[in-house]
Amino acid sequence: MKLIMLGAPGAGKGTQAKMIAKKYQIPHISTGDIFRANIKSQTELGMKAKSFMDQGMLVPDEITIGMLMDRIKEPDCAGGYVLDGFPRTIPQAESLTKALSDMGTAVDYAVNVDVPDDNIIGRMSGRRACLNCGATYHVAFNPPKTENVCNICGQNLVLREDDKPETVKKRLDVYHQQTQPLIDYYKKAGVLVEVDGTQNMEDVFKSIVKVLGAE
Ligand code: AMP
Repeated sequence: MKLIMLGAPGAGKGTQAKMIAKKYQIPHISTGDIFRANIKSQTELGMKAKSFMDQGMLVPDEITIGMLMDRIKEPDCAGGYVLDGFPRTIPQAESLTKALSDMGTAVDYAVNVDVPDDNIIGRMSGRRACLNCGATYHVAFNPPKTENVCNICGQNLVLREDDKPETVKKRLDVYHQQTQPLIDYYKKAGVLVEVDGTQNMEDVFKSIVKVLGAE
């Protein structure tokens, strides 16, 4: 099963993507996580991506598309995957459609986790991330077992630079201009699924599973 998660930054699509990956035993591929891993290990790709990310801007398509295409050709992707944070622009979506069609396949579902802007800013300020293992939490909706400590690796949690309110506003603008058009793109392709992302985490997940079924 090949899935795409759509939604504004902070809509909870990353959390849902991880839950889907676990249930359906497919890799969770987050372009944001790949960039962050590259920044941590100070690769050339990471250095290029960092300045864009810190400003709430998108990393240019020339960098992002090749990186994602390499990832989905890896052997663990043969049985499908859930893409989280890709595509984010029409050229990215078109490249993905073309690459998949060259392989004789296509995206099965694009799941749009819908949350109004008003909810987003409040949500993002409560988000906490582990920069060591990439786990994400929310102080109110998905708190770690011990305050400010990662459940998985025990490191301290932080408010990511790009989750700070001024950057979130910029990321929302970028989302509306460049990423929201993908909802129509996948609607036209007949694979769009819409879920109400204002529900709690478990109910959003149930709504998604209902549509995906037992595939
Ligand atoms: P995320 O963790 O998905 O919210 O991504 C964090 C940041 O990484 C975004 O604000 C962008 O700067 C960058 N990024 C992640 N995915 C993409 C993408 N598909 N295209 C361009 N930039 C991206």
